[in-house]
Amino acid sequence: KRSHFFTTALKGAMKRGDWYKTKEILLKGVDWILNEIKVSGLRGRGGAGFPTGMKWSFMNKPSDGRPKYLVVNADEGEPGTCKDREIMRNDPHKLVEGCLVAGRAMGARAAYIYIRGEFYNESSNLQVAINEAYAAGLIGKDCCGSGYDFDVFVMRGAGAYICGEETALIESLEGKQGKPRLKPPFPADVGVFGCPTTVANVETVAVAPTICRRGGPWFLGFGRERNSGTKLFNISGHVNNPCTVEEEMSIPLKDLIERHAGGVRGGWDNLLAVIPGGSSTPLIPKNVCEEVLMDFDGLIQAQTGLGTAALIVMDKSTDIIRAIARLIEFYKHESCGQCTPCREGVDWMNNMMWRFVKGDARPSEIDMIWELSKQIEGHTICALGDGAAWPVQGLIRHFRPVMESRIAEHQQQARA
Ligand code: SF4
Repeated sequence: KRSHFFTTALKGAMKRGDWYKTKEILLKGVDWILNEIKVSGLRGRGGAGFPTGMKWSFMNKPSDGRPKYLVVNADEGEPGTCKDREIMRNDPHKLVEGCLVAGRAMGARAAYIYIRGEFYNESSNLQVAINEAYAAGLIGKDCCGSGYDFDVFVMRGAGAYICGEETALIESLEGKQGKPRLKPPFPADVGVFGCPTTVANVETVAVAPTICRRGGPWFLGFGRERNSGTKLFNISGHVNNPCTVEEEMSIPLKDLIERHAGGVRGGWDNLLAVIPGGSSTPLIPKNVCEEVLMDFDGLIQAQTGLGTAALIVMDKSTDIIRAIARLIEFYKHESCGQCTPCREGVDWMNNMMWRFVKGDARPSEIDMIWELSKQIEGHTICALGDGAAWPVQGLIRHFRPVMESRIAEHQQQARA
């Protein structure tokens, strides 16, 4: 009866399958939605890969009177990563409907979408979609005629990478400095405004309605065991056609690059290394790239990770030491400074890395920076410290001879 409120954008989204049978999904209830998500094998798409159905079920406890909230992490700031941006830019209704379905599964009454400040156009786009959904009665009071009330709010960040960490994001949402909190308590117990909260990635939330419509087994049919479904992949760097593409999980890395990104610049033999999952994941050299599958388990086996599934491809023209040094500089800049191993250690690694770029170091310092990275890894409040340590470890694991010969060259020049 409210079809006169359906705008062109909303109609387009509906033609693409969004908002189809949403009322039926909502009426099937919490347990049914949670079960479909569990059966699908969906794992969080923000980087950690935690089983989504299990995470959402942590909210399924008897109410103690506090409202529950869904917080959508749209603070996408990992270098190389722009998959969530594509959803918000081109398909914002997928996310708005996803908020409603995920929120219903948690018994939440509202969703806060925390979007990075630099995504100005995307946040405007999202707000238009939210307004359309309110006007059409899809969200707000009596969503889709289901009797369920649910609100969606957009909050813009102010440019800090650390606000993509879930507890820092919650702090920022509450109007405080974006500094990670110690866990426990976990957000499912004490989250935003002291209430039970689940923080979920944009892509994870946006795929939930489709899983409910098509069924968990449909999603499970893609990929392989423990690594099911489809996934957005960003492919950037030295490829002929940088792109974002949705593909089946567990696709071989080489196929992904050749099928969708037009191959490596200058041909596959010109490949040096790939950072497979955004800047925090250790690089892998060409020989590892030949066989590796793009999923959680395949990349763990290769001593790296799926992360955000953002591939940064580097050909043989790359100064690999400089590339990693630049990433460490980024982490140094973005450290919130709360814990010593991160604040001091990443700064120290940064200084050392820029000396390695010039070769102005002793060979023994390669072991020293390795040891330093191990002292940072796992010894900090949040994962930013790990994210800074792993790229250095990947560099040393695979390109130690390059570092050694740079030092030897520099010593030779100094003697000449
Ligand atoms: Fe802050 Fe770094 Fe500690 Fe994270 S690891 S809380 S960014 S100092």
